[in-house]
Amino acid sequence: MNQNGFSTGEEDSRGPLDKICCLQEDGFRCQRQAGTASYSKKIRNTVRQLKLYLDAVARHTYICDHHKSMIQSARTLKPSSQVEAPEIDFSQLKMNMLRRYKKYFKVKTEPNLNKAQMAETSVSHFKTIPVNEKEALTFFIYTIKTNGTKLDQKK
Ligand SMILES: [Zn+2]
Repeated sequence: MNQNGFSTGEEDSRGPLDKICCLQEDGFRCQRQAGTASYSKKIRNTVRQLKLYLDAVARHTYICDHHKSMIQSARTLKPSSQVEAPEIDFSQLKMNMLRRYKKYFKVKTEPNLNKAQMAETSVSHFKTIPVNEKEALTFFIYTIKTNGTKLDQKK
């Protein structure tokens, strides 16, 4: 799209004002530097919940890293309140939980995977599951996370 960097140069001439986060907090435009994450419909509800607003004069929708992580953690904390499919961060799960997931769903993997690979495999498996089942799954993951030791003792 950018030919010889021409359009990029144009944006640069607008000055530093456009390089800051596009969100407003407590009625003031955030002064932090905008990152690579941008505001989208997907995060609209979370942004509202956090009492953040898209600045009307912002010419872009990039948000700063501070607000990005704020939105991200708000989304992970309340997966059930989200309309869209819940998301599970498999990389946050312990190895024994990943193994349990694998066993439960009979996920086929290569032998001797490390934790990152196990998480990756579980994520790809999780994505193949229909949304309504994902709701139940989120609960399942929650259960193995909180009652993990109890389940181990039963055997
Ligand atoms: Zn910000």
